[in-house]
Amino acid sequence: MTVARLSQALARIAPSRTTAITDRAMQLRAEGRDVISLSVGEPDFATPAHVVQAAKNALDAGDTKYTAVAGTQALREAAALHFRRDLGIAVPPSQVIVSAGGKQAIFHALLATLDPGDDVLIPSPWWVSYPEIVRFAGASVVDLPTDAAGGFRITADQLAAAITPQARWLLLNSPGNPTGATYPAQELRALGEVLRRHPRVLVMSDDIYAPLRYGAGDHATLAVECPDLADRILTVSGVSKSHAMTGFRIGVSAGPEWLIGAMGRLQSHSSGNPASISQAAAVAAFTGPQDFLIEWRERFRARRDMVCKAINAIPGLSTPVPDGAFYCMVNAAPLMERFGGDEALCLHLLENGVAVVPASAFGGRDGFRISFAADDEKLEEALRRIAKAVA
Ligand code: GLU
Repeated sequence: MTVARLSQALARIAPSRTTAITDRAMQLRAEGRDVISLSVGEPDFATPAHVVQAAKNALDAGDTKYTAVAGTQALREAAALHFRRDLGIAVPPSQVIVSAGGKQAIFHALLATLDPGDDVLIPSPWWVSYPEIVRFAGASVVDLPTDAAGGFRITADQLAAAITPQARWLLLNSPGNPTGATYPAQELRALGEVLRRHPRVLVMSDDIYAPLRYGAGDHATLAVECPDLADRILTVSGVSKSHAMTGFRIGVSAGPEWLIGAMGRLQSHSSGNPASISQAAAVAAFTGPQDFLIEWRERFRARRDMVCKAINAIPGLSTPVPDGAFYCMVNAAPLMERFGGDEALCLHLLENGVAVVPASAFGGRDGFRISFAADDEKLEEALRRIAKAVA
């Protein structure tokens, strides 16, 4: 037997394709190739100066030691403020945990609650890491397919038909990555009706893109629409996407005390506390000025409109206009025969200087995801390259 034998749990999962393609684009750039990366969901805006200053202040103050595993009291309070002010979810700091990015929170929540034989319901196209984490935990994925015509949202009937006796979690992401799917309040309430009949099912509401909504009306979230279900809802949020702080790695989650405690128990053996400097920066992000978020959102909206118009003008490509987040799920079905699949098409685009992620990475098909969180000039040039590459 070779020493390089992987655990069965790891062997069940593939590397993240969003990060793999982004790493490849960085590598090509380091080799001197001209590649525009629209593969990762990362705002190009600079982290706000007051946030950077808070990180510097923390360093100068010697804030460089362990903190409590679940986060500093200051950040748990700031996160509780964020949940109340921005999402309408009233929780005490004891029902909040801080993790190294939303990704770690999702990882810990699922690992802490899933057993082999459990099912996890995930609307597809889904964010790449959801099904992989589920499989790592030894549970099974139940795919709830959605399509552009239905706004990439599941319906209550679809949920009711898909729930198995083994169902343990429903993963909801609104606004969603990679489709921008955004659930209105009444649709969440309809999903809640179904969930009430299945008390074993927990719900992860991944609200990381909440500030990035382009339609009218407030952000809707399940814990607010169905408060009676709050004791089995984990709402995940953070500063990465909203405040352009991806590298800081800070996610925050709110949920019932038993689940927050379970996540903390696991976190105490994985990373321990999230980085102390990053936590100080996140306090500034949540408690400092928020008005720039509106200006950023409007800039994303302009980019979204530009990208959708350009994509829909390219023969063989089409995209619906997403209601939220900063991704377009591009349909390239008419080109599939010519290129031999979405993976091959994305390799061809990479050769032509644009990195995007194949739809199959998200449980979709025949297309690719563009992140429009890049500056206007880069986006325009990337779209010219895409048009030329598929012509
Ligand atoms: N969530 C972002 C994306 O989908 C960041 C990369 C990742 O962690 O997948 O691009």
